[in-house]
Amino acid sequence: MDVGVVGLGLIGGSLGFDLRALGHRVLGVSRNPETCHRAIALGIADETSPNLNILRDAQVIFLCTPLGVMEATFHQLLPYLRPDTIVTDVGSVKGPIVRAIAPLWLNFVGGHPMAGTSESGIEAAQKNLFTGAAYVLTPVDTTPVAAVETVRALAIALQTRVYQCHPDHHDQAVAWISHLPVMVSASLIEACMQERDGSIRAIAQALASSGFRDTSRVGGGNPELGVMMAQYNRDALLRTLHTYQQELTALINTVESQDWPKLTAKLLETQQHRPQFGQQFSPQSGQH
Ligand code: NAP
Repeated sequence: MDVGVVGLGLIGGSLGFDLRALGHRVLGVSRNPETCHRAIALGIADETSPNLNILRDAQVIFLCTPLGVMEATFHQLLPYLRPDTIVTDVGSVKGPIVRAIAPLWLNFVGGHPMAGTSESGIEAAQKNLFTGAAYVLTPVDTTPVAAVETVRALAIALQTRVYQCHPDHHDQAVAWISHLPVMVSASLIEACMQERDGSIRAIAQALASSGFRDTSRVGGGNPELGVMMAQYNRDALLRTLHTYQQELTALINTVESQDWPKLTAKLLETQQHRPQFGQQFSPQSGQH
């Protein structure tokens, strides 16, 4: 199949590697001619161009640009699409993208491969980045089944676990498990930096090991991604942040009142709840 990839960064480049390995002909588009050459040299694409007209004959096109330019990129692509071309995207937030593009293109299937690193750009692209990862598809009522099944088959071939849900449900779910953790982790780092005594801060920094590394990792990632999450998933993220604030306030009250049985009960509860995260969807909550 001829597959187009627009935006040859971490996600687009990684897709290029794996789609080629599956025998597809990958047509890559980057604004930067140097990135185009690099994509050929690395084996990410068979053909590249800064010009979207290279995608005229593609059967499926992956939009892999930053969230903020996804809609504009689609508008630039529109003149080159054949009526049966399937367009999908990889954006980490689905509602705004699906609402913008689905009414304009019947064969649009929103998607989110849930794999990544804290790096960006073509040099960060990796083979097998998506192996074992979740891949969420967010079609709407009007999306043709054939288009959804084509994207699903590609995602399965990439060895991902494919789920399907409403774009807004995706956004609220990722607000809880991805976007809230970024904000909480960032505020954890900032809270520690507020220790006024420099020598205590230095000791804390020297002593920080696996526990702090685990809880601060996502707060120390690519700032652009964090801002995009907040900007494009604002309402869902705010809902999670307010709930988290309530949880923190309750914890403060418990510690202030030295209610150790209550704290014990809370931590027993969280110990029991944690394994429920990272389990696969049940048939009732989504489709595999
Ligand atoms: P990235 O490495 O920065 O790649 C983005 C690509 O888009 C680059 O090839 C860049 O290439 C192009 N681009 C940048 N600004 C542009 C603009 N104004 N107009 C047109 N093209 C532009 O970012 P990424 O991590 O691959 O993220 C791409 C998409 O994947 C985002 O929508 C993100 O939400 C989603 N995603 C990211 C992750 C993650 O963990 N990183 C995971 C899942 C999904 P040129 O400058 O060469 O054109």
